[in-house]
Amino acid sequence: MAAAPRQRISVEEATALIAAAMPRWPARRVTLEQALGAVLREDLLAERDQPPFDRVTMDGIAVASGALAGGRRDFELAGTQAAGAAALAIADAGQCLEVMTGSVLPAGTDTVIPVERITRSGRRAVIAADYSPRAGQFVHRRGSDHRQGERLLAAGSVIGPPEMAILALGGRAEVSVGAWPRIAVISTGDELVAPGAPIGAAQIRSSNDLAIAAALRRRGFPEVSRSLLRDDPEQLVREIGHLHETNEVLVLSGGVSMGQFDHVPATLAALGVEAIFHKVLQRPGLPLWFGRSSDGRLVFALPGNPVSSLVCLVRYVLPGLALAMGAGERPARYCRLSAPVDFTADLTCFLPVMLACDDDGEVTAVPRPTNTSGDFVALGGTDGFVELPRGRDHFPAGYAARFHAW
Ligand code: AMP
Ligand code: MG
Repeated sequence: MAAAPRQRISVEEATALIAAAMPRWPARRVTLEQALGAVLREDLLAERDQPPFDRVTMDGIAVASGALAGGRRDFELAGTQAAGAAALAIADAGQCLEVMTGSVLPAGTDTVIPVERITRSGRRAVIAADYSPRAGQFVHRRGSDHRQGERLLAAGSVIGPPEMAILALGGRAEVSVGAWPRIAVISTGDELVAPGAPIGAAQIRSSNDLAIAAALRRRGFPEVSRSLLRDDPEQLVREIGHLHETNEVLVLSGGVSMGQFDHVPATLAALGVEAIFHKVLQRPGLPLWFGRSSDGRLVFALPGNPVSSLVCLVRYVLPGLALAMGAGERPARYCRLSAPVDFTADLTCFLPVMLACDDDGEVTAVPRPTNTSGDFVALGGTDGFVELPRGRDHFPAGYAARFHAW
């Protein structure tokens, strides 16, 4: 007999149990085009010095600073150094070369005079009388950003737009990343009807599966399916059983409370999924259920209320999946409440907020309370939610709360 799940545990304990249960999915090579949102599973080392040559940072002329120090303002134009072309050279200190931003600094020169500071006449360039250049100016020295072989990205980095540019700089067409799991998002409930289908007076639109799939896709999980199942024990065992065999992760919503039709925990038990915990001391989202099968497949069963399911997804599922992909620890982020909040239940409170990034430079979290955990229209325009810990019932304006982005 499997051990009974831990019941009514704290948010911290639930977080730790999920982290401890996470498998480490294998690494896989993908092209950069496929890598957005993925977790890097190797260190990226610099292919070359950066810049790889003494690089000109202004359009203008390149001269020898020795000539400037000797009082020369007037140079013979010996040619043009274009970006991408091998270095030209000046024959003597009386010459200059026209240079373009991004070009190699010509041999014999060390200083660039911007085009705005010179007058050209035929093959001569004269530096404006009121301009005093500094020796070595507008040259980005070879290796001054980093050296060949230096680590540019560490394994565990999540690949976003800047990381994509760094991988390209590293010369990589392919990288090793955590393999994406196949994820099945399953809504359960007899009352649920997909958007677009005819709907009866006693029915409601199924929205959780779309919100959950959207959050997963936004985090870079490409293989996400959605299903809508009835509260029928036999159908649940059959369909969830099939999805459990063909996916590494199940994210269910609905059917985990104490109602007569809440068949999800029994279904998962019948399928041999070990229940790790059921119910977390939090609002919304108290009925959260988490389990894992012996081969490491994960099952998150979220409460059906739309605010609960999205909050639980962001608070527990996404960080868990990031660990299994190989992501490094990310520091928690905090912001200050813009207004006081009273919350008297002995539960951790997750409160939807909008971030105000005003011109006074303070980021504050503006509470957007929902009427009930079913009232998710209030979530429109919010950025995420703050986490207000158990053990106190008043949080003053200015309280630094942990923030989680949708
Ligand atoms: P349950 O957790 O099954 O008791 O559901 C709690 C509440 O959430 C009920 O009002 C359900 O109708 C609602 N609900 C469950 N699943 C969904 C869904 N996929 N989309 C929108 N609301 C849902
Ligand atoms: Mg239900």
